Amino acid sequence: MYYCQDCHMPYEQDICPRCGVKLPLIKEDDDCFLVEKKELWADMLKEVLENHHIPYYCAQLMGAGMSLKVGPMLESYQFYVPYSHYHEAMQCVETLFS
Ligand SMILES: [Zn+2]
Repeated sequence: MYYCQDCHMPYEQDICPRCGVKLPLIKEDDDCFLVEKKELWADMLKEVLENHHIPYYCAQLMGAGMSLKVGPMLESYQFYVPYSHYHEAMQCVETLFS
């Protein structure tokens, strides 16, 4: 597997289909984009990932000032996990959201 630092995604081919650049081999600790979820679902996903002892990084898409205007329910979170836990985390997402 190969890794694109701009997409934060693992790819099977060594050229990124989105960026068109040559990719290095993926490393176990490369952060891979898992999923983007609204706050309510994000909290559920955090709990599931923690139950599975999967390390993750969660990025909030809107700033705190913004969420006051549009309401907290619209806030989204992007989840990233190290490649070593990517497949396991994907399974958690599929189980939770299918
Ligand atoms: Zn890319």
